[in-house]
Amino acid sequence: MSTRTVHIKSFGCQMNKLDTALVAVALGEAGFGLTDSVKEADVVLINTCSVRQHAEQRVLSHLGHLRYIKKTRPDLVVGVIGCMAQRLGVELLENEAVDIVCGPTQIPQIRLLIEKALSEKRKTMAVSEKIRKAAVEKETEALEEFESVHDSDDSQVPAQAYVRAMRGCDKFCSYCVVPYVRGPEMSRPAKAIIEQIKRLADKGIKQVTLLGQTINSYKYTTCGRTYRLADLLSMASEIEGIERIRFITSYPTEDSYDEILQAMAGLPKVCRFLHMPAQSGSDKILKTMNRNYTASKYLEMLDKARDIVPGIAIVGDFIVGFPGETEGDFQRSVSLVEKARYKNCFVFKYSPRPGTTGAKKLQDTVPQEVKKKRNTELLAVQEGISDELSREFQNKTVKILVEGLSKKPHLDTKNGGNQPQLVGRTVTDWIVVFNGPKGLAGKFVKVKIIKTAPLTLFGELT
Ligand code: SAM
Ligand code: SF4
Repeated sequence: MSTRTVHIKSFGCQMNKLDTALVAVALGEAGFGLTDSVKEADVVLINTCSVRQHAEQRVLSHLGHLRYIKKTRPDLVVGVIGCMAQRLGVELLENEAVDIVCGPTQIPQIRLLIEKALSEKRKTMAVSEKIRKAAVEKETEALEEFESVHDSDDSQVPAQAYVRAMRGCDKFCSYCVVPYVRGPEMSRPAKAIIEQIKRLADKGIKQVTLLGQTINSYKYTTCGRTYRLADLLSMASEIEGIERIRFITSYPTEDSYDEILQAMAGLPKVCRFLHMPAQSGSDKILKTMNRNYTASKYLEMLDKARDIVPGIAIVGDFIVGFPGETEGDFQRSVSLVEKARYKNCFVFKYSPRPGTTGAKKLQDTVPQEVKKKRNTELLAVQEGISDELSREFQNKTVKILVEGLSKKPHLDTKNGGNQPQLVGRTVTDWIVVFNGPKGLAGKFVKVKIIKTAPLTLFGELT
């Protein structure tokens, strides 16, 4: 029998990128070929995101395109995996283009689901019926095995890999769908995480990013000992071959905060980088969002981070146009961004998500054009700050881990002869563009910064 080929398209966050990498490795091991082209594929999988309506709309329009392709290629199998699969279940299965629906907790079953769809030519679905009920032991075991056997070697970025430390979330921010599609918060065994990093290091991985929706709440107890994130950082630091360790995303809470900052300050391999979303600068809005801190508490936490970890780069997330957000509330977010001095921040327009408290109890009162205006304004404020911070790198030499070819051409490094433009990141996550040989991907190099822009540094190999 000829090899069946699979094309995987991934939407959404790093958790999804990791799931996509795991599915790709698992299918590769099961004898499937992977292809970048839908035309060559026998199976198309779409790994989906439900965090904002826009993300779901993109998937639906992609499915529209696949439905059109299936008119001439009826044997093409289309699978939807991830958060949207869990959220919509049968509704998605009823979509003409869709043959497989598989939730994030069921991805270990993906090979079987594909084989069934290919051989029996009928629709199949695997999602959790009660996602908030702690995953049954069998399901957790299957996920754990899937995760550790298929080391997440994210071949898109050489020498770098994501490692899941936690699954799910228990915070229930009133706008957020994650607890309803990814299930309860659960920390993976510390030993499994560390063993996995060791195997990744043996394969040439130099940078690992530990993932969790609230990674700073990592807590795993076994044989009377409790492991927290600071312990993971310290154990991972011992692993030969690993040179950089990062973790995302942090929730603003004092729990374990000092220990994590001390670990960052004391362990040279731990990147001085903190992604800690504020979401709003208005205490009234933060309360309605069910975020358990105030703007001033949040700023105190940033001060502490800068005291304990000099040179730390901080990244934030904000939502604009949350129900009830007045111009005054929004200006408090502007003021928070001004004070926080983030390296960069992500700004999202509020999108009501079915099933969340926000969608059930709060009216989406802020008009779309106001959300858009606030989004642009907040990003402009941040751009000014990023610009100032980036200028501090002028004429300095930085060590970067090279990711590979730059996706978009930057005119600024045109005089690099025949060398292509490459992109890499500093230890504090600044993007650096420079000209150099393609073979540097996955290697550490030193680059002198000759020009700066708000989100990008331009340099020359030294
Ligand atoms: N767990 C992380 C945290 O608590 O910071 C973030 C997870 S969420 C996938 C990523 C970002 O999406 C959030 O920080 C928030 O800013 C944004 N987000 C989540 N739900 C949203 C919604 N309904 N509308 C707009 N933005 C949203
Ligand atoms: Fe969503 Fe809040 Fe959990 Fe982050 S902490 S995943 S925003 S519920």
